[in-house]
Amino acid sequence: MKVTRIRQDVAPISGAIANAYIDFSHMTASIVAVTVETGDGRRAVGFGFNSNGRYAQPGLLAERFIPRLLAAGELPAHPDGGFDPAAAWAAMMRNEKPGGHGERSVAVGVLDMALWDAAAKLAGKPLWRLLADRYHAGAADAAAWVYAAGGYYQPGKGTAGLVEEIRRYLDAGYRVVKIKIGGAPGTPLAEALREDLARIEAVLTVLGGDGSRLCVDANGRFDLPGALTYAAHLAPYRLRWFEEPLDPLDYAMHAVLAEHYEAPLATGENLFSLPDARNLIRHAGLRPDRDVLQFDPALCYGLVEYLRILEMLRAHGWSPRRCVPHGGHQFALHIAVGLGLGGNESYPEVFAPFGGFADDTPIRDGMVRLTETPGIGFEAKADLYALLRRLL
Ligand code: MG
Repeated sequence: MKVTRIRQDVAPISGAIANAYIDFSHMTASIVAVTVETGDGRRAVGFGFNSNGRYAQPGLLAERFIPRLLAAGELPAHPDGGFDPAAAWAAMMRNEKPGGHGERSVAVGVLDMALWDAAAKLAGKPLWRLLADRYHAGAADAAAWVYAAGGYYQPGKGTAGLVEEIRRYLDAGYRVVKIKIGGAPGTPLAEALREDLARIEAVLTVLGGDGSRLCVDANGRFDLPGALTYAAHLAPYRLRWFEEPLDPLDYAMHAVLAEHYEAPLATGENLFSLPDARNLIRHAGLRPDRDVLQFDPALCYGLVEYLRILEMLRAHGWSPRRCVPHGGHQFALHIAVGLGLGGNESYPEVFAPFGGFADDTPIRDGMVRLTETPGIGFEAKADLYALLRRLL
């Protein structure tokens, strides 16, 4: 088993949208194609890309991680006889010190996604089935719960435009939606709060007044007083969850907020390693009976590291059902189905062509059922595959 060829490129995923912290006018993504050969004449090409919100990593890929993978030579197989991305992962991370994860976790995650795609293709199985067989006693879910993430701040959109957007998600088969809060970058807090409460009220009207069908996401914008102010105003709505209220790395502030806000909190999309995730669980006061963990397998050094995070969660009394990864990509959808997570994010209208799932997997009543296509199935998502093909 050997990685014999890797090609990389950078693709734009820019858009005129903004959350409370950044706009996406210059957002990019790395894309890679990785060829794995088995030594007995079989080969597979796996594809990978980085999740939205972090920029492309061509330098780190070219200087460190691609050369190491190509120089690794013969890699030990998984005990089931198939290709084992964990062995490739160890080769990529040689000579990397612990801590200070930065965005090398993003570069490694791009390659990790492609390695898993190749591993499942070589096994002749969809990734969800390979994962269930290897790590979940063969037990995959029949479908994954997904919710529509949108509700960004966009010039000229207004509350009427937001309501139309939410209606489109419901028409497309979603039951639960998420909108941004905290104001477009630079908006004063009091003004943002006033505007956000009007947006929440308007969206709830479309959702039959049911707060459990609405999530709100502040993208880490608030300081503690700001988060507590918002929490006090959000509490009566009993929302599905209040996401990234605070700086994602300030665990003590989360612990204070969790004492004052009873409804579910969600965070984790900007924690990129097992030690960061473990510190969150140890110190942030999060509650295993309600809070939601959003570590993104594509951003946090890939699935090899994400498997370690799931193991750590189990040891701390957290069910994998509390995990609903960030990113809205097919990779995390397979992981959700194969490993029994709580579900997955979905971006019906943004981050094309990386957001969204295979063309033959419609959303029905908020659920997605995966197919038997070997690998992750990027080939079954026409707009994304058109982009990835240029690497071949
Ligand atoms: Mg978020």
